[in-house]
Amino acid sequence: MKVIVAKSSGFCPGVRNAINMAEKTLAKEKNVHSLGEIIHNKDVVQKLADAGLKIAEKVEKIKSGTVIIRSHGATAAQIQKIEDKGLKIVNATCVLVKRVQKIAKLLHNQGYKVVIIGDKGHPEVQAVLGSAPDIAVIGSKSDISKLSKQKKLGVICQTTQSPEHFAQMLAEIAQTDFTELKVINTLCKEAIKRQSCAVELCKKVDIMFILGGLHSANTRKLAELCQKYNKKTFHLQNWKELDKTILFGNNVAGITAGASTPQWVIDDFVENLRRFDNKKIRK
Ligand code: SF4
Repeated sequence: MKVIVAKSSGFCPGVRNAINMAEKTLAKEKNVHSLGEIIHNKDVVQKLADAGLKIAEKVEKIKSGTVIIRSHGATAAQIQKIEDKGLKIVNATCVLVKRVQKIAKLLHNQGYKVVIIGDKGHPEVQAVLGSAPDIAVIGSKSDISKLSKQKKLGVICQTTQSPEHFAQMLAEIAQTDFTELKVINTLCKEAIKRQSCAVELCKKVDIMFILGGLHSANTRKLAELCQKYNKKTFHLQNWKELDKTILFGNNVAGITAGASTPQWVIDDFVENLRRFDNKKIRK
């Protein structure tokens, strides 16, 4: 089968940095925890667990040693708790996520009602919520009612949302009863680059594969966008998950991967798909 890989796919600088920091820390120290899964990819999480990394969902569960703050960041309150317990911190928060946190704080200090367009349950958004009081999270149109009777709105966005979704939500916000609207673009260019390359590719191929964690926000966004243009879009974590019968009748496959998908997962999928003989399925 002919296979085309998107021009931009796989690890972004923020994720690569977090993994490098985790690997270096594990090489030097024995008792190392990450606050939540370090990235949303089970293959990488397993590899780091094999090297000794323990995952703690709450600071309270960590008794001693070093705590790695993942690329999605942590709240100021969580960092304070870690410091109060005398634990060592390795902060791998992506610089672009730190920027969102700083802007949220700044907007609040300037008297704006801070609004973040994003998924409330995502760890990046949860960390931003700790940067200022009473931040409103807008995930969809149904959340807009949260903004009634607000005079000054300061709007930011979860880094991995798509520009289309950002624009749609801004259009909805623009219809609320405000007197001032300040918008700061906090989208990540790396995520946008992966989205535009994926959309460009999925329009040219018979079948499209999005590789990456099923709970990775940026990977899910890639799948959601490609599904709009190519109905035969499939989000999988790795080659083992592929139901080979769906390959029947397709000659050209496109592949992209989320910002938290390691290169070895992409290479393995590409190699297997290139070797795959479609005719075998017909028998
Ligand atoms: S996708 Fe962008 S914001 Fe998120 S970790 Fe990667 S570089 Fe940072």
